[in-house]
Amino acid sequence: MADVSQSGNRVELKGFFPGELEGFVTSLGLEPYRARQIAAWIYNRGSIDFAEMTDLAKGVRTKLARRASILSLKVAARSGADDGETVKYLFELPDGRRVESVLMRDGRRRTLCVSSQVGCPLDCTFCATGRMGLLRNLSAGEILDQLIYVRRELRARGDDLTNVVMMGMGEPLLNYGNVVRAIRLMNLDYGLAIGIRRITLSTVGYVPGILRLAREGLKVGLAVSLNAADDALRSRIMSINRRWPIHELLEAVRAYRQRIDRRVTFEYVLLHGLNDSMEDARRLAALVRGIPCKVNVIPWNPVEDVAFVRPPREAVDRFVDVLRNAHLTTTVRYSRGVDIAAGCGQLYIRPDAAATASVV
Ligand code: SF4
Repeated sequence: MADVSQSGNRVELKGFFPGELEGFVTSLGLEPYRARQIAAWIYNRGSIDFAEMTDLAKGVRTKLARRASILSLKVAARSGADDGETVKYLFELPDGRRVESVLMRDGRRRTLCVSSQVGCPLDCTFCATGRMGLLRNLSAGEILDQLIYVRRELRARGDDLTNVVMMGMGEPLLNYGNVVRAIRLMNLDYGLAIGIRRITLSTVGYVPGILRLAREGLKVGLAVSLNAADDALRSRIMSINRRWPIHELLEAVRAYRQRIDRRVTFEYVLLHGLNDSMEDARRLAALVRGIPCKVNVIPWNPVEDVAFVRPPREAVDRFVDVLRNAHLTTTVRYSRGVDIAAGCGQLYIRPDAAATASVV
């Protein structure tokens, strides 16, 4: 069942599956088919006001407005990167907490990087979000509304959203139920209608979540943030590795791959002097050999007060050459939006941001 948050004694509808909406409308004495109309208004047109739902009789709209509500995030701040291709949104949730989403334009592709938690309980040493700790999970409606908002804006300019990555604040697999619900709703054909192959979930390696997702049969793309090719180093920079070391993680990835039959992406944040040597690259190539995959190399994005070094271009090139010579499909992502702290691992909201709307 969806998170049935209430405003007064009104039922929150954003995050309901069509079947649940049907149960709700019939409980009000309305015909079941009304559910599909309401779902299309909420998820496709991004409506937050029952008065707009003009294919419903006025009496029905009034009844709905008395008994139900439709969550809507507010934009507290927005910043655009110098490249003109990246926009970071600071969204305010109904309880005043804040999360960030990042829109990236690349050719005809419009990808939104979506948050799943306020902060994060994991403490990957290179990541700004981890420094916030976990404040709470997002509801499915709150996850979805990041997309609905941005898509409405794009559509107003004759543009549209094409791809989604669950790679913003938080570890999505630690908010499993709400994340999977949100993904199913993104995919709803008369809702946001984002094809499942255009949705990617990124995890740092929460093994039980990967195995559960494999059983779900959703066919969503999986990206695994690997970042080190040996356990000693990975445990040093990512505490989750102490519980689920690399061989267990890769076993889960193989199981996911087999079940879903999609190529997996390994993300590798390059930290100069730590994991960016040619020997590291050779170890990485050996580790993922035999797994149909792509490696995405991300030169580390500076985070305030974190003592890592972004690798020089030559170190990145050397690392990538080793992987390519080992016949691994390899891309380098010089994160977009680094100048507005919208790059990978940079999303962070200061504890005082609720008052000041300041974003690092
Ligand atoms: S990298 Fe991901 S899992 Fe690790 S602290 Fe940052 S948000 Fe959390």
